[in-house]
Amino acid sequence: MFVISGQRLISPIALYPSALLSDRRGSKIYQGAKMPEETNQALQDRVARLERDLERLTTGVSLLGIKSCSWCNKFLRSDPATLFDPGTPVCYGCVLEWWHHQCNQRSVKEREIIERALKTWLLRYHHAEVVKNPQKLPKDPLPRLQIVVSCNECHATGYAQGSRCGYCDGRGTVWIVVPAG
Ligand SMILES: [Zn+2]
Ligand SMILES: [Zn+2]
Repeated sequence: MFVISGQRLISPIALYPSALLSDRRGSKIYQGAKMPEETNQALQDRVARLERDLERLTTGVSLLGIKSCSWCNKFLRSDPATLFDPGTPVCYGCVLEWWHHQCNQRSVKEREIIERALKTWLLRYHHAEVVKNPQKLPKDPLPRLQIVVSCNECHATGYAQGSRCGYCDGRGTVWIVVPAG
């Protein structure tokens, strides 16, 4: 079939150079080798553009005092009670799951530093209480959050000045509990 363009007759091959190899086997080889390469390049350009846009957006949003939680990726106003931020911000709703994950990932030293900061943050901003005796942990209703932390008084040894640590009753750990309600 021929197409009329002005006064000349142009074959479909001239209009569509990719049809040069339009016999069945040739076409397959040509398209199979060339097309994905072009598509990948276009896709890479688009992803790079989106990354740049996202970076600009994130910078803009942080200027408004908004940060994203590193665990759920939600954007939240970055006031001290909303986000716990020991280098990577994490929201209150995610902090427990995040902390359990950190316990398996971090070194002992890093864990100690974060644990201390987390304890202070929960006590200061979330009305947490220190519970020394596990028998006294609230059960009904269950607390909103509870974590076990090392006792600072005896450095988790259970002993202070040669006798049983009075702060943790010799356990070396205490519970930080955010009551329900
Ligand atoms: Zn979160
Ligand atoms: Zn102690």
